Amino acid sequence: MRAAPDAGGELCIERVALSAIAERFGTPCYVYSKAAIVDAFGQYRAAFGEHAHLVLYAVKANSNLAILKLLAELGSGFDIVSGGELARVLAAGAAPSTIVFSGVGKSSGEMRQALAAGIHCFNVESEPELERLSRVATAAAATANVSLRVNPDVDARTHPYISTGLRQDKFGVPHEEALVLYRKARQLPGLRVTGIGCHIGSQLTDTSPFAAALERVLSLADQLTAEGFQLEHLDLGGGLGIRYQAEERPPAIGEYVRTLVAGLGARRMRLMVEPGRSIAGNAGVLLTRVEYVKTTAERCFVIVDAAMNDLVRPALYDAWHDVRPVRVEPRRASRLCQVVGPVCESGDFLGRDRMLGVEAGDLLAVMSAGAYGMSMSSNYNSRPRAAEVMVDGERVHLVRSRETIADLFAREAFMAR
Ligand SMILES: *Cc1c(COP(=O)(O)O)cnc(C)c1O
Repeated sequence: MRAAPDAGGELCIERVALSAIAERFGTPCYVYSKAAIVDAFGQYRAAFGEHAHLVLYAVKANSNLAILKLLAELGSGFDIVSGGELARVLAAGAAPSTIVFSGVGKSSGEMRQALAAGIHCFNVESEPELERLSRVATAAAATANVSLRVNPDVDARTHPYISTGLRQDKFGVPHEEALVLYRKARQLPGLRVTGIGCHIGSQLTDTSPFAAALERVLSLADQLTAEGFQLEHLDLGGGLGIRYQAEERPPAIGEYVRTLVAGLGARRMRLMVEPGRSIAGNAGVLLTRVEYVKTTAERCFVIVDAAMNDLVRPALYDAWHDVRPVRVEPRRASRLCQVVGPVCESGDFLGRDRMLGVEAGDLLAVMSAGAYGMSMSSNYNSRPRAAEVMVDGERVHLVRSRETIADLFAREAFMAR
């Protein structure tokens, strides 16, 4: 993660001290680095080089409009999973021809919305979805470009909640049924088969499951080609992991892309990937302030003003995020701490068993929080959502203001008498 101490020992994002951001915008606050996003996207681009490709940023990782606009300007496409995300990417200036719609539960309304926008492709995940898409497209006198998401039945060896490419998962069409469904897609009105895809999971720290999935999808692609299908693209999904802990060694973006390009061999399909975490994850921190240090006979709790409603990954996946003091006080003794939030759940922790020397009022940075942080946040415990700030060199942009208490119940009403 790109946050480094300055000459005075204070943690900075690019050239801005985190304490200055806390002073100006309050805490909890998500802070992103523009340079880190530009750099990660550039690594994808550089690794594909001359090979025909499209990088589709997975919007669900972080859907802030400023991030979407930045990526659209860099030439990124977008992988969306809802009508809400479609509206966001269009508002951010995305070209419809760069939008791909994934997800197992697309409603008819979402299909109509995407057809009207003229998106590049629907990643279809089941037979009933294929039938619905055909009906919706026909009624709209439109043609939907279709790619089936194949479930290659490979083990991504990641957390079960973010593993999606095994036979028992709800995602994709089973490998052995895909051929039959492709033949059906060819017969149905309103559809045009343009590609094939898969997505096997998230936070993968090894290239071998990607290579295995590619091999399985390619064997199907070759069968389809033999049957006269003209596949224009192959979409390998997202899933490349990032480094949350020092000992983790996920493959570099370049190594991952080169594995895919090499696996494709002499085939001439356009290669697409849908990275989310590997673009936004290490571009953000969650800045929080210590409210209390509470010592019990058993433990030392560092109670901070951010909570599981702001960053749910530790509670949901038992995920590990580094927690660092914004200013290291060398003379303070460290002790074993539980970094927890104010929410009324024992699962409300941001970091367990951390060696920290902190006091009330100190600032902490929860690292690698740029992906699946703000986008998974909620208002649980009637907590307004955090502010979001984008740093660009020495400039600071507020890209989402902190929610107000009034926002929390603005849409609620008393029952009529
Ligand atoms: C979540 C998701 C992604 C992004 O995954 P990352 O691990 O963040 O790269 C891409 N494609 C689909 C279909 C997804 O569901």
